[in-house]
Amino acid sequence: MHPPLPENVEAIFQQVRARNAGEDEFHQAVREVLESLAPVLVKYPEFAEQKVIERICEPERQIIFRVPWQDDRGEVHINRGFRVEFNSALGPYKGGLRFHPSVYLGIVKFLGFEQVFKNALTGMPIGGGKGGADFDPKGRSDAEIMRFCQSFMTELHRHLGEHTDVPAGDIGVGGREIGYLFGQYKRLTNRYESGVLTGKGIGWGGSLVRREATGYGAVFFVREMLKVRGDSLGGKTCIVSGSGNVAIYTIEKLQELGAKVIACSDSHGVVVDEQGIDVDLVKQLKEVERRRIADYATLRRGARYLPGGNLWEIPCQVAMPSATQNEINGRDARTLVANGCIAVGEGANMPTTPEGIRVFLEAGIAFGPGKAANAGGVATSALEMQQNASRDSWTFEFTERKLDAIMTDIHASTWATAEEFGSPGNYVVGANITGFIRVAKAMLALGLI
Ligand code: NDP
Repeated sequence: MHPPLPENVEAIFQQVRARNAGEDEFHQAVREVLESLAPVLVKYPEFAEQKVIERICEPERQIIFRVPWQDDRGEVHINRGFRVEFNSALGPYKGGLRFHPSVYLGIVKFLGFEQVFKNALTGMPIGGGKGGADFDPKGRSDAEIMRFCQSFMTELHRHLGEHTDVPAGDIGVGGREIGYLFGQYKRLTNRYESGVLTGKGIGWGGSLVRREATGYGAVFFVREMLKVRGDSLGGKTCIVSGSGNVAIYTIEKLQELGAKVIACSDSHGVVVDEQGIDVDLVKQLKEVERRRIADYATLRRGARYLPGGNLWEIPCQVAMPSATQNEINGRDARTLVANGCIAVGEGANMPTTPEGIRVFLEAGIAFGPGKAANAGGVATSALEMQQNASRDSWTFEFTERKLDAIMTDIHASTWATAEEFGSPGNYVVGANITGFIRVAKAMLALGLI
C-alpha cells in the first residue's frame, strides 16, 4: 500500500491515472515524483497557478507506428514502435530506444517522464523523450536486426533531427543497432547529421566514454554518497544485476576503485564468483559472442550459476541494480538491509519498487535513485552532441573527467536540495525537486505552450 499523497497533488495524480488507464509503470513514476513536490508548490505558488505539474505529466507528443519486417525465412512480422516526445523546455527531446517484448506505451511513458527530470539534473540543454518497440532481438540474426532497424527508422526519421529529437540506446539497443538506425536515417534524409543519434561508433561520430558512461557515472555517484558518510568503495563487496551495457561498466569501475563485485545476472539466472567477477570474460560473452551469462560459470573455475536465483539474497555492502524496472521489491530490500547493505545505486531506471525505496530510506542507507545515479549516460550523450556540433573528438581521459564532474555536481545539487526542502540525505526528494524546478522555471518562461 502507498502512503497517502499530500493534498495539493492528490487530485493531479487521480487525473493522470484516469487519463492514462492501464499504464501502471507510468502511474508509479508520476506518483514517486508527486510525493516529493508538495513543498515545492508552497514555495512556488506560480507553478500551481500555471498548472505546471499537469502540463509536465502530459507528453508534448506521442507517436505510435507499425514496424513491418521479414525474418530470414521470409516470414512477415509486425511490431509496434513508439516515440514519446515528453518535454522540450530545456532542449531537443533526448532519451533512448528500448527493444524488448515487454515494451508498451506505459513503459515508454514512465521512461520518458523520468528522462525529463534526469536530463534537467545534468545541467545540459536537453529535453526528455523515450521510445522503442515490442520487438525481441534475442536469437535474431544480424540481418534480421538490420531489417528491423531499417523498418523502424523508415517511419521514425520524419520525427527526428539534431535540434528536434535525438534518440540513443537502452535495453536491446546497443552500438550495432545505433549503426543500422543511423545508416537508414542518413539514407532517407541524404544528410550526414551526426547529432541526430548518440551512442554511435568511435570513428563515425561517436564519443569515447559513451559506452562506459552510465555504469561509470553510477559508480561515481555511489562514491560521492559514501564520501559524505566518511566512507569509500575500497574493499567493499558489491553485487550488480544484469550483464548488459550498464552492468558491465558498473562492474569495471567498481573494481577500478578497489571494490569487489561477486555476482551479476541476466533474466535467466545469477552468477556468483567469490574471487571477483572477471569483467573481460563478461564482455567477451555478452558484447562479442552474445551468449547467456550461465556460460560464465562453465568457463571460470570456482564460479557458480544459480538458474532463476535471486541476486538480492547474496550478502553485500553495495548493491547496484542495473537490469530493469521493479527488480527490487520490498522483501528484497529488507533482505539487503538485513545482510548489511549500506548503499544502493540505481544504474537501471526505476529498478526499486515504491515499497523497496521506503525500506531503504527508513533503514537510513545511502540510496541513489536512477534519475540521479544513472544520468551519466545521457550526460555523455550530450557531450557526444557537443563534439558532433564542433566536429571535434575528445580523449577518453578528458571526457571521463567531464563525466566525473557532472556526476559529482548532480550529487552535490541533489544533496543540497534535499536539505533545503527538509529531507536531509534523501536523494529521491533531492533529485525530483532539483529536476522539476529547472524544467518548471523554463516552462513558465516560455509561456503557455
Ligand atoms: P542491455 O540490454 O545492455 O542489458 C540489459 C540487462 O538486463 C541484460 O543483462 C538483461 O538480461 C537484463 N534484463 C533486461 N530485462 C530484464 C528483465 N525483464 N528481467 C531481468 N533481467 C532483465 O540494457 P542496458 O544495460 O542498456 O540497460 C539496463 C538498464 O539501465 C535499463 O533499465 C535502462 O533503462 C537503464 N539505463 C540505460 C542507459 C544506457 O546508457 N544504456 C542509460 C540510463 C539507464 P537478458 O539478456 O537475459 O534479457
